[in-house]
Amino acid sequence: MTLEIDILTLFPAMVQGPLAQSIPGRIQEQGLATIRVHDLREWGLGQHRSVDDAPYGGGAGMILRPEPVAAALDAVRRPDSVVILLDPVGEVFTQARAADLASRAHLVFVCPRYEGVDERIRSLVDLELSIGDYVLTGGELPALVVVDAVIRLLPGAIEEASTVEESFSAGLLEYPQYTRPPTFRGMDVPTVLASGDHGAVARWRREQALERTRRRRPDLLPDRPDEPAASKPKRRRRNDST
Ligand code: SAM
Repeated sequence: MTLEIDILTLFPAMVQGPLAQSIPGRIQEQGLATIRVHDLREWGLGQHRSVDDAPYGGGAGMILRPEPVAAALDAVRRPDSVVILLDPVGEVFTQARAADLASRAHLVFVCPRYEGVDERIRSLVDLELSIGDYVLTGGELPALVVVDAVIRLLPGAIEEASTVEESFSAGLLEYPQYTRPPTFRGMDVPTVLASGDHGAVARWRREQALERTRRRRPDLLPDRPDEPAASKPKRRRRNDST
């Protein structure tokens, strides 16, 4: 099944370029996802296709008016759509949410600019997503982050093992990875990785993933009944591989 995505933005070029490159580009060529980018100005008001106005009550900046966004949603929304508003006050985006969105049929992203969108638009969306506790100039980069994270999870997009073992998928950070050379600036590749003992490699990776998660992101561990309670993160030393 092809995941269909519509992105509503005032700056189509900001999203078109990155999505045409590398893995996102290949995913679309393979027909796993179809991404359409729409200029919100198409639904702008009047001769000048106006989309913004000053905030009621005064204050800095402009607000994206509700009518162009609502008209765009009327044009692209389907019964099976999930309409997503990118917004710093939204739910913080996670790998679990990415997996959920990868299982849907149609995603619509609304990318506001200025000081944000008129509050009444929230009643027209299904989900509000933030990509973290900081403020960007518009919803385009957050939409790219979410789309990239979602489409790489589509079956056939990348090697399945990559997404099963990577950070957050199993509730842990990923274990350390090495490639050649065997010694780099005095630092050796752990001998177990070249031992050919697949069981030992799997155990080592599991231990490393747990230890790294305990040290760096103990917040990911507290409810794991099979694991010891998360210890306080220790200060990191130089060359500390976890
Ligand atoms: N006035 C808004 C506030 O204080 O929450 C910030 C508006 S921001 C300058 C303009 C737009 O960028 C937002 O409406 C949103 O679409 C997008 N944006 C900025 N930071 C974001 C984040 N962390 N996550 C998701 N979208 C974000």
